[in-house]
Amino acid sequence: MGRQTKKQRFQLDSRAGSPFELRLTLNPDTDAEPHELQAVLELLAEDNEQWIRRMVNLGTEPPCCASCGGIRYREPSRGEHQRGLVQHDGAHEMFRKGHGNCGTIVAYDVAAARVLEDKDVWPLIVPGPWGVGSWHAVIGSPHGNTDPTLKMEQG
Ligand SMILES: [Zn+2]
Repeated sequence: MGRQTKKQRFQLDSRAGSPFELRLTLNPDTDAEPHELQAVLELLAEDNEQWIRRMVNLGTEPPCCASCGGIRYREPSRGEHQRGLVQHDGAHEMFRKGHGNCGTIVAYDVAAARVLEDKDVWPLIVPGPWGVGSWHAVIGSPHGNTDPTLKMEQG
């Protein structure tokens, strides 16, 4: 097994702090419907778009995606599942922590693709691999869905 090269984590510009920072905690495993989760991630993506534009205006090029920014994919913990609360972070918090769950990563990648590449993409909720009632976030587009977490380092 080859050792994966550690990606350098994107360095935060402290000036691009919290004016647009949004952190949403929701309950995906009990009463939240897929379209509600999708609406929450869309809101988070729009917030991230503001953050990315602000970074660009400050002269710092934000990463094209969470993976290139050195973010590791971390599934929600057992504790989060048990409490039924999963936290989805905005871009600033994600880069501060160095990891994100599927919703956090998709909300960033969608925003970056829209702002930096002018792509028509959106957060999409699909059934998760963890059994009935579990959900997973992927990137929707007119050409099909992509799951950015598949190629990401875990941890
Ligand atoms: Zn990238």
